[in-house]
Amino acid sequence: MTKYIPIKESYRFSCTMCAHCCTGDQEVLLTPFDLYKMGRFLHYETSEELFDNGWAELVKNENNVWRPQIRFKIKPFKYCPFLSNELDEDSTLIGRCQLHPEHKPLVCAMAPVGRIVDMEKNTEEYVFVKPAPDCPGVHSAQQNSLNELLTSLKEELDFQRNYFELLEIAKNRLLSKEQSFERLYQFRLNKPFRVIIADLKKRIVR
Ligand code: SF4
Ligand code: SF4
Repeated sequence: MTKYIPIKESYRFSCTMCAHCCTGDQEVLLTPFDLYKMGRFLHYETSEELFDNGWAELVKNENNVWRPQIRFKIKPFKYCPFLSNELDEDSTLIGRCQLHPEHKPLVCAMAPVGRIVDMEKNTEEYVFVKPAPDCPGVHSAQQNSLNELLTSLKEELDFQRNYFELLEIAKNRLLSKEQSFERLYQFRLNKPFRVIIADLKKRIVR
């Protein structure tokens, strides 16, 4: 298992918008709240439309739990469908995320900070995860405060924690792909997310 460096207070990093983490074999795992944000960005009425229209797909992890991830385009190369490239005034290619900032998936918004939650031991820690093997941002001297990042994302982190609790139940119940989709990832987008997550909690235990 990869060993990551724990972050206690601060970390050095500055994104150059090279887009290496939005292309190639990168995997962008999503939470239900990420589906909610992406669906609303696309003016959909249901989360299901993200799957029907090829923006997201379900993948099984090492614990046999089905999780959604962004479905990358594969032609002419592998890239995130929300990546938009443009040239700056020096003709340097800049990678922009169309979901930035308020619809961005949590894992992208937190990069290079990763959150490791152990639900059985009820522990969590934050670690430095290189966004891409050749990420130039890791060479920056810019100091960033972990506390500031966590404070700015507090509500989302709480929703993610709620989701991890549901995943534990899904793992213990050995839910199939169809059951997982129906109980965790299929919802209407016209309600506040706290109402949706409360409904998902009821669905997963029935
Ligand atoms: S690879 Fe690093 S520097 Fe490049 S866009 Fe991703 S986070 Fe930013
Ligand atoms: S959602 Fe945005 S930041 Fe995340 S991989 Fe796609 S383009 Fe990059």
